[in-house]
Amino acid sequence: MPGLYARESRSISSMAHLRFFPQAVVGGSGAYLTADDGRRLLDFSASWGAASLGHSHPAIREAVDRALSDQAGASYLSTANEPCVLLAEKLLSLVPERARGRIWFGHSGSDANETVARMVVAATGRPRILAFEGAYHGGTVGSMGISGHPAQQGGRAEGLTLVPYPNSYAAGSPEAAKDAALARLQHLFATELPPGEVAAFFIEPIQSDGGMLLPPDGFFKAVEALCRKHGILIVSDEVKVGLGRSGRFNAFEQSGIEPDIIVFGKGLGGGLPISAVVGPEAVMNHAVAFSLQTVHGNPICAAAALAVLQTIERNRLAENAERTGGVLRESLDRLAARHRLIGDVRGRGLALGVELVEDRTSRKPASRQTALTVYRAFQLGLVLYYVGVRSNVLELTPPLTLTQAEAREGVAILDQALADVAAGRIDDAVLEDFAGW
Ligand SMILES: *Cc1c(COP(=O)(O)O)cnc(C)c1O
Repeated sequence: MPGLYARESRSISSMAHLRFFPQAVVGGSGAYLTADDGRRLLDFSASWGAASLGHSHPAIREAVDRALSDQAGASYLSTANEPCVLLAEKLLSLVPERARGRIWFGHSGSDANETVARMVVAATGRPRILAFEGAYHGGTVGSMGISGHPAQQGGRAEGLTLVPYPNSYAAGSPEAAKDAALARLQHLFATELPPGEVAAFFIEPIQSDGGMLLPPDGFFKAVEALCRKHGILIVSDEVKVGLGRSGRFNAFEQSGIEPDIIVFGKGLGGGLPISAVVGPEAVMNHAVAFSLQTVHGNPICAAAALAVLQTIERNRLAENAERTGGVLRESLDRLAARHRLIGDVRGRGLALGVELVEDRTSRKPASRQTALTVYRAFQLGLVLYYVGVRSNVLELTPPLTLTQAEAREGVAILDQALADVAAGRIDDAVLEDFAGW
């Protein structure tokens, strides 16, 4: 019998695959996965942040068990159910006044962003949307339509305008990056993009898939002022970096802004599919039967999400993200002092990125070495992937429950992987079957 990975390729389509190495898992607990060959893998991705509490968390197991033992239907389309109402009440208590209106539940970041994109246009009567170059807002037609990530193979919406996300490392300083990005936005408003036609600006409080870019100080305050001036709604896509990961419950809090609409996903369900949009009542109640899928608001996923939020609060996981993220960050900074491949270490809390470059002066992306590094790390027992519009930023989004010992263990493996790649010990041929993105 061939291994699980080989068997998968004979039955499962590759359309949803984003593969970096031959990973096949049969179980997991906490920050560790169990591979089908019995190896323990330390998971620094948490399935792109979805496994926010790690694997097999008792609070989620208990909540799902309870919800299934007396199941309140399978949907909220035609009936109210208690887990959804409790979850909505909880989420409303966790967002700023400005957004505290009504909640919509979906399955994924993609359906949530797609819904918001349709909703803001319908509710404001303004046809245009702003988003960032490099932005990943989802993989459905409507969410791809408002995204700017070059790896996507779908088209952009007609009303979409993309503006650069400030890249402090590429620009040489946060100030230079901020000034250039704001100048571009102001120029657009003064020329081809009448701000009065823009319904919403989809922002990423940290641009994760575009390369774990941190906004320079004051950048989003300036964006907020421009949006307020022109009546443009601010949509904060918190799908990957929200819910405690940045060290605060909401990642936009780090920039001191108050968005109008907030989108949650990934880690909200702790591994189960659920997303949420929160925003002002007038916008969120613009029309009935406007965006629905049959098992939206199912009580099982809602119960899991409520357990996730309660656990984040009770176990102070945002604080853990800040503290353990700090330890992780310091260890990565020490690696940067020894590995010339590392050009930049950045991020907040447990949303960290390590940009690999051919040399530190030209900052030429070391994309091949990045792919080899994650491959080698996997061989050595660490799971992490890469992001970035040039495919050269290692992304660390471990479970929010990560311990400091686990953080150090992962960095020790990464240390070895980087050394092996730099010494040419890993054959490029290992990458043949792995396209990454
Ligand atoms: C992953 C992601 C999405 C899409 O979420 P899915 O669950 O894959 O549909 C949207 N926005 C951001 C910022 C993401 O990281």
